[in-house]
Amino acid sequence: MNLTRPETTHDVVIIGAGNAGIALAARLRRDDPDLDIAIVSPEGLHTYRPLLSYVGAGLATLRRAQRPQSKQIPAGCTWYRESVVELTPAPVSGEVDATSAHQVHTNAGRRISATDVVVCPGTHIDWDATPGLRQACASPHASTNYEPTMASATWDMLKNLRQGNAVFTISSRNAPCPSVGLKPLFLAADHWRREGRLENITMTVLNENSDFTGLPRANNEIDSRLRRLGVHVRSGITVESIDADSRHVTTRDIDGNATHWPYDALHVVPAHRGHDWVADAGIARPGTGQIDVDERTLHHRRNDGIWSLGDAAQLGTASSGGGLRRQVPVLSDNLIARRNGKPLAARYDGYSVAPIPIDRRHLILAEWDRQGHEEKTLSFISLARPRMATFAFDLFAQPLIYWHRLLKGK
Ligand SMILES: Cc1cc2nc3c(=O)[nH]c(=O)nc-3n(C[C@H](O)[C@H](O)[C@H](O)COP(=O)(O)OP(=O)(O)OC[C@H]3O[C@@H](n4cnc5c(N)ncnc54)[C@H](O)[C@@H]3O)c2cc1C
Repeated sequence: MNLTRPETTHDVVIIGAGNAGIALAARLRRDDPDLDIAIVSPEGLHTYRPLLSYVGAGLATLRRAQRPQSKQIPAGCTWYRESVVELTPAPVSGEVDATSAHQVHTNAGRRISATDVVVCPGTHIDWDATPGLRQACASPHASTNYEPTMASATWDMLKNLRQGNAVFTISSRNAPCPSVGLKPLFLAADHWRREGRLENITMTVLNENSDFTGLPRANNEIDSRLRRLGVHVRSGITVESIDADSRHVTTRDIDGNATHWPYDALHVVPAHRGHDWVADAGIARPGTGQIDVDERTLHHRRNDGIWSLGDAAQLGTASSGGGLRRQVPVLSDNLIARRNGKPLAARYDGYSVAPIPIDRRHLILAEWDRQGHEEKTLSFISLARPRMATFAFDLFAQPLIYWHRLLKGK
């Protein structure tokens, strides 16, 4: 059977309908209502992923985190509910060329051509990067909030722990917003304290990064809170493997020494990787698998009319949904400028965020730019100190802002 369909053409094709793809499509429609935009993305449900951390702490349901994707696609955009399997960029001419078309191929045999292609399919869990991870997460003793279907299992595991070792790993390998791996620790610790079990539980964080956020002031707050709780922290190590049968994690330090960490409950922020078809298209930065765009303009370094943002892009800063608030208007402005033969003037400053609740009432919101300077949303106050208002904002207000403003391109 020949599944090949005739080629269709649009002005812009957006690959991926996550936070990045939907917010950008909506923004482009607002900025230039005449643009003919197609979105290619397979999932029928849209997940507000930051809420998964609260699902994993018994403070939200998965139902609250998900809505039908059909309701998120901006009016006027064409949605192909298919997966991209191949991208063929237009030949590199060496000169700025706004007319060459790129080809997008889907698993339904569709070929779509467009002069601008925005590649934002995120990253996915690299289950094979950590031997034993899959087997461990199939048991009741290990889980990850990074897989939506496992988030409520995280809470079952943590709430039922009476004593023993609770281990929390945080990968440095392409994991989105990795510091939220501290959320299950702090929220579970508060639960164990209220239940009178905290002193029976030894908590350990195995962090592949050298610190938790890009903001020193927030790191100090987090470190002092971890110290007060008696949490053992190992940073700059590599999580090498997990043994699901004997229930231990093996790490290796920079001197090559291996250490085994027994666990009774294990939460993992797993290594992630880019999509193979991105590497095959020749648009990834070697070694990272992420798309090799100019970190400021979000336009590809070599291929005219190829763009990226969100988790799939190599942006020289920690990826986060919060960072997309700044990336979306920049990409929209620059894409429209290129189509009109104008210079790419908008710049992304590397803004990123890490919201860390330190108990079930207070949250530290770290915000920083590419230079590691604090980038305050509210100029008159630093949110990098524990506050009740930011906790309530993160859990209750931010999801509403996401559905009703960010995904509407506002
Ligand atoms: C558990 C968790 C907690 C988080 N907490 C926070 C937080 O508190 N604050 C914060 O700022 N950020 C947080 N983040 C990070 C934030 O969710 C991501 O940075 C953000 O979702 C990135 O959006 P994206 O659109 O780039 O990628 P994604 O959200 O991954 O979307 C990618 C889209 O592409 C689609 N796709 C995949 N493959 C293909 C293909 N082959 N063809 C077409 N489409 C494809 C997918 O179906 C998906 O719709 C968290 C992430 C996780 C996992």
